[in-house]
Amino acid sequence: MSPQTTTPNVHTRSAELFERASRVIPGGVNSPVRAFQAVGGTPRFMVSGKGPWLTDADGVRYVDLVCSWGPMILGHAHPEVVDAVRTAAGDGLSFGAPTEREIELAEEIISRVEPVEQVRLVNSGTEATMSAVRLARGVTGRQVIVKFAGCYHGHVDALLAQAGSGVATFGLPTSPGVTGAQAADTIVLPYNNLDAVAAVFAERGPEIACVITEAAAGNMGAVAPLADFNAGLRALANAHGALLVMDEVMTGFRVSRSGWYGLEGVAGDLYTFGKVMSGGLPAAAFGGSAELMSHLAPAGPVYQAGTLSGNPIAVAAGLATLRAADEAVYAALDANAARLGELMGNALGAAGVPYRVQYAGNMFSVFFTEDPVTDFATASAAQTWRFPAFFQALLDHGVYGPPSAFEAWFVSAALDDEAFEVLASALPAAARAAAEATDPAVGGGR
Ligand SMILES: *Cc1c(COP(=O)(O)O)cnc(C)c1O
Repeated sequence: MSPQTTTPNVHTRSAELFERASRVIPGGVNSPVRAFQAVGGTPRFMVSGKGPWLTDADGVRYVDLVCSWGPMILGHAHPEVVDAVRTAAGDGLSFGAPTEREIELAEEIISRVEPVEQVRLVNSGTEATMSAVRLARGVTGRQVIVKFAGCYHGHVDALLAQAGSGVATFGLPTSPGVTGAQAADTIVLPYNNLDAVAAVFAERGPEIACVITEAAAGNMGAVAPLADFNAGLRALANAHGALLVMDEVMTGFRVSRSGWYGLEGVAGDLYTFGKVMSGGLPAAAFGGSAELMSHLAPAGPVYQAGTLSGNPIAVAAGLATLRAADEAVYAALDANAARLGELMGNALGAAGVPYRVQYAGNMFSVFFTEDPVTDFATASAAQTWRFPAFFQALLDHGVYGPPSAFEAWFVSAALDDEAFEVLASALPAAARAAAEATDPAVGGGR
């Protein structure tokens, strides 16, 4: 008997664990969106994952469309990745000294993303963007950075202003604890609006160290750059002596073997990577031309370091994941995203709810609106109040989606026919729940 056939609604054990967690961990979670605050209900405590499936503490099985927020493109517990981790662990957990596999991972990344000649490994995407911004400021001798509303670059102080992901989910303008000076050095502009970028460069060009952008936005939901946006950023940065930082933490090695760069070909000066390149362990990277990277300590004066950076286990997981991610895997990711998006669109269309299934490569999001979503304002203008009902109905039917209207949905190459059967039977009920939801601001309530 598969756990799928037991009552999917039972989550007593998760509820107990959440209560216990809330006593010793703020909000019961180690990263805010996991707490389900935006969708209500009890966050599911996970016990195991295999291929496209997750199993929670009550033994309920879900098709996983979060994939650890991106990393698990091969599905959970992929045998080659698990073997690589086991072998690496047997050889010792950490040395604080260089290892050959770090070179191999750097070589693998560089071979995939042409503008990147050198990378430095770090432990999280946050560290990667923080370090890239420091390097950009160090190299240019300038202070100001330009970012876009709804883009999330990790919880770096200077990058939290009007950020996406959890910051958007909880409706925070920025975060207490970020100083006025840090916020003042960050200019936030609407995404996909080149005129706004050109105006800021015209006014403050000589002060701007870098423009940082998600290569394709995924943290306000999936919002691809308009056709000339990244190329326009490239041209403006060049014209004003600023650097362009392409944040590919989410898109890198997911939307193609060379990330968004592989789809679009617009070169950034600096790149940040994480998620997929970690294979699910804590590893990330930033990189660029050898000349730019030579400004980093110990080759140059810009300081950056990490006790566990290039950790052998994390590097083994990342390397095994990238080596297994061949053309067949990318074809499967694209096909699975298209198949799922179509199922979702059909269900929502049949339920008569206003919707858009919008793609950025093989990442996608559902927005409850018929209007194009091109920036954070249009993403926020969608009927996000329909999302909790949609999410909860999917959960009840064995589908684990992102618990926020402002997140991308992530497929893995491991989604199989059995998983798609669960999706196909869950989506019509979820679409109906979304259609029946009422706007709490208008009253009626759910
Ligand atoms: C997830 C993400 C980050 C932050 O990475 P963490 O590993 O969570 O610190 C940065 N940039 C983008 C685009 C991301 O999606």
